[in-house]
Amino acid sequence: MAADPLPASVLPFAAARHLVEQHAQKLSSGGSTEASETLPLLQAQGRVLAEQLAADRDFPPFPRSARDGYAVRAADLANIPATLKLVGEIKAGDTQDLALEAGQAAAIMTGAAAPPGSDAVVMVEYTARNRDDVSVNRSVRSGENIVPQGSEARRDDVLLMAGHRLDFAALAIAASVGREQLRVYRKPRVAILATGDEIVPISATPGPTQIRNSNTYSLAAQVQGASAEPILLPVAPDEPGRLRELIQAGLQSDLLLLSGGVSMGKYDLVEQILGELEAEFFFTGALIQPGRPIVFGRAVGKYFFGLPGNPVSTMVTFELFVRPLLDALSGAPVTPLRFLSAQLKSEVKTKPGLTRFLPATLSGEFERSTVELSKWQGSGDIPTQTRANCYLVVPPDRERIPAGEMVSVLMR
Ligand code: AMP
Ligand code: MG
Repeated sequence: MAADPLPASVLPFAAARHLVEQHAQKLSSGGSTEASETLPLLQAQGRVLAEQLAADRDFPPFPRSARDGYAVRAADLANIPATLKLVGEIKAGDTQDLALEAGQAAAIMTGAAAPPGSDAVVMVEYTARNRDDVSVNRSVRSGENIVPQGSEARRDDVLLMAGHRLDFAALAIAASVGREQLRVYRKPRVAILATGDEIVPISATPGPTQIRNSNTYSLAAQVQGASAEPILLPVAPDEPGRLRELIQAGLQSDLLLLSGGVSMGKYDLVEQILGELEAEFFFTGALIQPGRPIVFGRAVGKYFFGLPGNPVSTMVTFELFVRPLLDALSGAPVTPLRFLSAQLKSEVKTKPGLTRFLPATLSGEFERSTVELSKWQGSGDIPTQTRANCYLVVPPDRERIPAGEMVSVLMR
């Protein structure tokens, strides 16, 4: 494996993110050999398609009426009102046995096949029916309210490519082409290793200055949310021997996520141990808040992230940096970060220099979204994080953002 000659460094947010994306892209273009498995349709939700799905028939398979109304010949409605002779009724699922001639109309329901001879459907709202006639008081364009056969896709067209992450719309495609099972890539296995002498398992009663291990669970939940498989390792103490043992165990997985032990403290040993394992470090910090001490690197051919231990930092840095690599390890292209725009409710003041992703609440609706910063006690404040629903993004060059300004929001 060619070692990138990058110096260990602290990078601005965009550069750090870009670097992770570059590694992710290398990973996916390197002739990915992800193993695959076959799953029932619904179990494939969130997974990445390992095959190509093609249309087994035209979409739609017949000229489909988009409305309840009357199938007509548009030319018959050049002068309105017009009276047409009613020659039949076609409901969804009916097979054709009538052909429309000049001066005729057929009642038709949404989803039914427009009969040969017809070229438009006039909505029932613009008609009045009297026994064997229908009078129409609106003209229609040829083609109106009919979706032509094959206009959405042609038989044998590729509808989904390998590498597509299977959301509900993709499952609808699979169902539409009659697939009860799908071949998907195997889930990447992600080892999670919390570190810290003060951290105790959640089954233990913590001493007065001990902290229950929550990061393992928030990370595992985020990993599961990304349709990857979390492997929970026991908490590592700030002691080199045991820490090294557990890091080595974690590097057996496809990706290792550490939390804690990456700051400047005397007992922050994670980088030291990884260095002893001849890790390459791509960056050892990002100019962000929360999450500045984040570490990204590779050891024994496996990528790892040393995430900061503060619980909110751990959560934020997962979203900002871990996700692209998980996409790649899953066989999918990198999902770009997507920001919304919302109006700031109350002034924000910060020190410049860092890109900030601060817990906030987005409210309002449609184009009138507003966002307000949460009052928090910093990156250890899980209760505030649970009440927030997004992150307000503060660019590094802003010291003060006045109320009313449009700002970027990262949803979570
Ligand atoms: P560290 O990054 O190791 O300096 O830890 C920063 C802060 O996060 C400290 O207050 C830790 O107690 C806390 N912390 C570290 N790991 C965890 C964890 N697994 N669960 C909850 N809090 C943690
Ligand atoms: Mg620690």
